Amino acid sequence: MDHLPIFLDLNGKRTLIVGNGVSAARKADLLIRAGSDLTIVAPQLGEELSNLAKSFEFNYQSTELTATDLKDCVIVFGCSNDDRVNQALRELAAEAGIMVNVSDNTEDCDFIMPAIVDRSPLLIAISSGGSSPLLVRMLKARFETTIPAAYGRLAEFAGSYRDRIKKLIPNLTRRRRFWEDLVSGPVAEHLFSSQFEQAETLMENQLEEASVAGDQPPKGEVYLVGTGPGDPDLLTFKALRLMQQTDVVLYDRLIGEGILNLVRRDARRIYVGKLKNNHTVSQDEISNMLIDLAQQGKRVLRLKGGDPFVFGRGGEEIEALSDHGIAFQVVPGVTAANGCAAYAGIPLTHRDHAQACVFVTGHERDGKLNLNWESLIQPRQTVVLYMGLSSLDAITNGFLSHGADPATPAAIIENGTRAGQRVIMGTLESLQEKALEAGIKSPALIIVGSVVTLRGKLSWFANRPKGD
Ligand code: SAH
Repeated sequence: MDHLPIFLDLNGKRTLIVGNGVSAARKADLLIRAGSDLTIVAPQLGEELSNLAKSFEFNYQSTELTATDLKDCVIVFGCSNDDRVNQALRELAAEAGIMVNVSDNTEDCDFIMPAIVDRSPLLIAISSGGSSPLLVRMLKARFETTIPAAYGRLAEFAGSYRDRIKKLIPNLTRRRRFWEDLVSGPVAEHLFSSQFEQAETLMENQLEEASVAGDQPPKGEVYLVGTGPGDPDLLTFKALRLMQQTDVVLYDRLIGEGILNLVRRDARRIYVGKLKNNHTVSQDEISNMLIDLAQQGKRVLRLKGGDPFVFGRGGEEIEALSDHGIAFQVVPGVTAANGCAAYAGIPLTHRDHAQACVFVTGHERDGKLNLNWESLIQPRQTVVLYMGLSSLDAITNGFLSHGADPATPAAIIENGTRAGQRVIMGTLESLQEKALEAGIKSPALIIVGSVVTLRGKLSWFANRPKGD
């Protein structure tokens, strides 16, 4: 993060602009709207500033800039067409320890101005740190069209009840639920359609109900959410929505930063990663944690790589939850086989190659692979092996010793759908050696079957993982 976004309270505070063109007028307009005590220093006022002066008050001074002009200013703006004037302002500001913004010159700025979507008191500030003004304009246009003016009304309404609700509902979790229901429920709907009286009546009813409920913590719930194999764009809308309304999140090493960053900022994060042969937190411990947290009234998010029910032990977790009468929701995710296949350009089924596709685990139990080889070597099918990297040798040998053709195409996809995705192509005979040569690491998925050969034709069209 190159800049810290903050919102300044400039009400009654001194600010200064040097310059008199369009840029000066735009800044002046914003500073006046924010209630600041503004001074403009310029030889004369340009057309836009003169227009602004007809409706608003600000101080204007045509004499040359001196250190006294910056006295008590909290921020200052260099908008002059003359670089020397802006430079002089920079130097004076540096001496006085005041932050300066110079128009169209990010390098000379202590702070930059974002694009603004104004639904006061709701404000959205957008910035690309100067790297893509076009993208910023595009996003601003999108927000302008998708955020109704009524959101400002809703924010104002909520603000007017803040103190009362804080006193009435001291329990933080319950209070947050109250707000969540408010902004997505019927009170908001009435406000959006300008039915203020109805909104107020409903609000009073809800406050009454809240005071009857007392300060008991609300009922907890667990969300078992599949996040897909890594690319955050593969999340479902439902996953994203639940990720926004959670109090605590349990995640493991399959969950990347890109996805964790989409979880509500102030949700508590608990890492329950299992490192191979070094089980940090056991499955029972994880289930117990989910139960404990839900019993404390928390909304608990359990993130699962891929899909929770595909080699994800999601079944065990919900069994434990239902044994304890805890409410839960399961959100499916794109499983690694689907994600990796799409991003590697390998269709899992194809009329000319495979009419069936099986997902199996290559994880050894007690040092043994327990697979039904007869069913895996059937013709015209694709076999996808999860967790098979460390037993790759045993896997390829298993296929071969049960009669599979050594020339059967096979691929390994490492870090599928993520930055740094790698695809190794070979055959049942050559795969082990190629994987060793390339130093393939976990997470990696193995695909066996003639569909692998289609990659040559199709990979060019396949989705590109980020950074590929
Ligand atoms: N529930 C998950 C699977 C968990 S088992 C799902 O539906 O995808 C963990 C195995 O999944 C890993 O050993 C690996 O074989 C596979 N896997 C998960 N994410 C992957 C990725 N981004 N790239 C390649 N393989 C992945």
